[in-house]
Amino acid sequence: MPEHHIIILQIGPANPIIAWTIALAAIALIFPVIIRYYVKGSPQFIPSFVKLTYDYRRILEKHALYYQRLSPENKRKFVERVYIFIRSKTFIPRRFKKVTLEMKTLIAASAVQLTFGFEKFEMPHFTKILIYPDTYYSLIRKAYHKGEVNPAARLVVFSWKSFIEGYQNPYDSKNLGLHEMAHVLKLENKVLKNEVAFLDPDLYKKWEKMAAQHIERLKQGPDLLFRRYAAENEYEFFAVAIEIFFERPFSLRAIHPEIYALLKGLLKQDPILIQQLESEETFIAERKVV
Ligand SMILES: [Zn+2]
Repeated sequence: MPEHHIIILQIGPANPIIAWTIALAAIALIFPVIIRYYVKGSPQFIPSFVKLTYDYRRILEKHALYYQRLSPENKRKFVERVYIFIRSKTFIPRRFKKVTLEMKTLIAASAVQLTFGFEKFEMPHFTKILIYPDTYYSLIRKAYHKGEVNPAARLVVFSWKSFIEGYQNPYDSKNLGLHEMAHVLKLENKVLKNEVAFLDPDLYKKWEKMAAQHIERLKQGPDLLFRRYAAENEYEFFAVAIEIFFERPFSLRAIHPEIYALLKGLLKQDPILIQQLESEETFIAERKVV
């Protein structure tokens, strides 16, 4: 038997201190990994996470401007949340075969963007996401739809064509993904009121009061930023305001500073700061869209 084998065999029983040290070191290394995954839900050490996040990053870098402008640290947080969101929802294709990774990633990205300021971000009441290739006819409302949320069925519905149109112009304050997710957020807040209040109750009271005034004003005449649809009801006002908040933050801050300030407080994020926006450049881009 070669000499080094004998030496190795002798180490174990002859040096219990070394054996214990190695064992404890191994436990110390593995323990935080287990804790991190099970307690915080971080998927960093799941092998598929590495492969999937590479694909998510590729898709986000191509289509999601908000993601592209984040700091490296926030990008990591964003991708991790996209991963968790996708794992926690069921995506159902309607009138086509298979929901692609791009569809899942961008739908998740709209939810993650909206809730990026929160610690709890999964919106657990809504478990299913239904996707149609184009606008679809709603038998209940007897009209063609681009998207809707159905709290009773725990469902969010999108027309993929309309969803992707929302990302084509990032400054026109039209983004179906953010719009529907804003409805989801508000409904989640209602459902989970006693457990996790997403939206600060005091700020939300202020918001409701202010929204009612703006809705009345919008019914009287046009606004520089808000489309008329926002005057339908408080839900639509909230959803449209969120589209503007993210797509034209400089304009909203300049024209309706009180709306900007309240949304910033409610969502716990400032799109200008978090995206590290250069005022001049973005404001000019925003103003080109009329
Ligand atoms: Zn709506």
